[in-house]
Amino acid sequence: MITPAELRQYHYCPRILFYERCTPVRRRETRRMQYGREAHDAETALERQRSLQRYGLHEGKREFNVRMLSTRLELNGIADLVVTVGAEIYPVEFKDSTREPDLGHQMQLCAYGLLLEATRETHSPRGYWHSTRTRETHVIEFSNQLRKRTLNAIQDINAFIKAERCPAPTPQVAKCLECELRNFCGDVF
Ligand code: SF4
Repeated sequence: MITPAELRQYHYCPRILFYERCTPVRRRETRRMQYGREAHDAETALERQRSLQRYGLHEGKREFNVRMLSTRLELNGIADLVVTVGAEIYPVEFKDSTREPDLGHQMQLCAYGLLLEATRETHSPRGYWHSTRTRETHVIEFSNQLRKRTLNAIQDINAFIKAERCPAPTPQVAKCLECELRNFCGDVF
């Protein structure tokens, strides 16, 4: 079973995920990662006092740190926030980032949507991705294409973890130059 956050990792470089899941190699938590985790926790605390206006919603039921598991999807995780409005439900993800959400972030959010649909028997047509740095909130529509890419990624990750098969390195070599695991990727350097 994998987590939605691992989809983001997979999009960045599937090999990092392989090292973490199938070998004793672990990445150290950097200052930046630590700061991001603290900013994330602070944002979750502040969100309890805010309205739903930033999501374009007037009212809705909010639940924080929602734990979900689906054996069918081979997925489990904890959503930062879940908002229910009528028959629809939306996951919300807080990120300490100045960048726009990339495909990895979109798949992570979509995976929460798939988990909500699997566990609550309700419809999750979109999610919200909020930057704690820029204060911008992005709406991520869970299109058929995004759902398919997310499901394919889940399948691929579970397959290489079960087979303990090292996946191909990221094609973006620039990422490798600042990767602390580069000593293990002899075929890249
Ligand atoms: S060195 Fe490159 S290919 Fe290897 S784990 Fe790091 S980012 Fe991935």
